[in-house]
Amino acid sequence: MKFGGTSVADAERLKRAARRIVAAREEGKNVVAVLSARGKTTDELVSLAQEMSDNPDPREMDMLLSTGERISCALCAMAINDLGHRAISLTGSQAGIVTDTSHTKARILDVRADRIRTALDEGLIVLVAGFQGVSTSQDVTTLGRGGSDTTAVALAAAVEADVCEIYTDVTGVFSADPRIVPDARKLDVVSFEEMLEMASSGAKVLQLRSVEYARNHGVRIHCRSSFEDAPGTFVVGEQETMEHALITAVAHSTDEARLSLVGVPDEPGAAAKIFTALADANCNVDMIIQNEPLELGRKAEVSFTVPRDDVRAAQTALQPIVAELGIDSIDTLPEMGKVSIVGAGMKSHPGVAAKVFQVLAEERINIEMISTSPIKISCVIAAAEVPTAVRALHSAFELGADGIVAEAPIGEQAR
Ligand code: ASP
Ligand code: MG
Repeated sequence: MKFGGTSVADAERLKRAARRIVAAREEGKNVVAVLSARGKTTDELVSLAQEMSDNPDPREMDMLLSTGERISCALCAMAINDLGHRAISLTGSQAGIVTDTSHTKARILDVRADRIRTALDEGLIVLVAGFQGVSTSQDVTTLGRGGSDTTAVALAAAVEADVCEIYTDVTGVFSADPRIVPDARKLDVVSFEEMLEMASSGAKVLQLRSVEYARNHGVRIHCRSSFEDAPGTFVVGEQETMEHALITAVAHSTDEARLSLVGVPDEPGAAAKIFTALADANCNVDMIIQNEPLELGRKAEVSFTVPRDDVRAAQTALQPIVAELGIDSIDTLPEMGKVSIVGAGMKSHPGVAAKVFQVLAEERINIEMISTSPIKISCVIAAAEVPTAVRALHSAFELGADGIVAEAPIGEQAR
């Protein structure tokens, strides 16, 4: 059971989480619970660091950030003990979560869950501080924003849990952000592949890495509300998803930036140099477009998108490459967004891309970049146009409460 920041924001909510954990224990289940930092604690810790330094040391940053989830766990353990059960809180390190050494975005390498197993065998409820681990050089690390989801999935895999329940402030995964689309539908089941595309397209319900981890280790996720009992959304293997909707959801993000390198020499190795520099600076490049010059000797243009937070780092990383390759300029468009439609059913249905472009054209929205996967179509557009685009696509593909179009079951003829 994993409880997010809003579900443990204050004493009352922590006690509610404690009761929920105890209720599961009283049903006879062994419970490992992962807690996030309370409310906006992590943001506040980031601000504290910024008051101290413009460029805080990443190792110290992790020492600082990891405290938020420890507070939640210790407090929750106290509440559980008062409810007549025995709980033990553990840091990520004590829980055996071993990561690489890349501070503030560490990756889990191994989970040595012996201590958790022993505690469960003794009848204890185990609380683990989310979002953190210990590196191979014995330093505290954190797993990137939203990382408690990944902690939960990794522990679920390690203890071979029946299910990894993610308790949050929404009732599940929706066909679009309900704040933008009032008739967005709660989805009962989503496949790992669809959820991966949605998370990488801006859906914030689950951290992208947690979904990757769940897919790789076959961990069933149940994403549900901590404020009500109704089931939420199951994220499971494709073989378990019963009906294949043509389109499952519209995802969006409003914090993209586009960088264009103008006048890039058209020679082997140019792209390799550019994107190696960006990778070394840990910039998460999303879409890439390169246009090949028509005339011999002319220069090319290379454009790509990064999260807006990475713009400074990208520009800095590219300075030496601009000089080395004699690139004319870097143009930055900081206010970009992205809309994506995701659905396993589109694999076998032509014409989905054409319809997406038509819908955006009717809204007079200009598409700057396009990328596709077998189950996703993404368009980069101006950030300000994202809400209009999301609403238009959601209604054009009839994703609202009554509009779901299911495909015939596998083996029967498609619609
Ligand atoms: N507290 C961390 C964050 O705010 C990790 C998490 O909540 O998942 O990003
Ligand atoms: Mg979260």
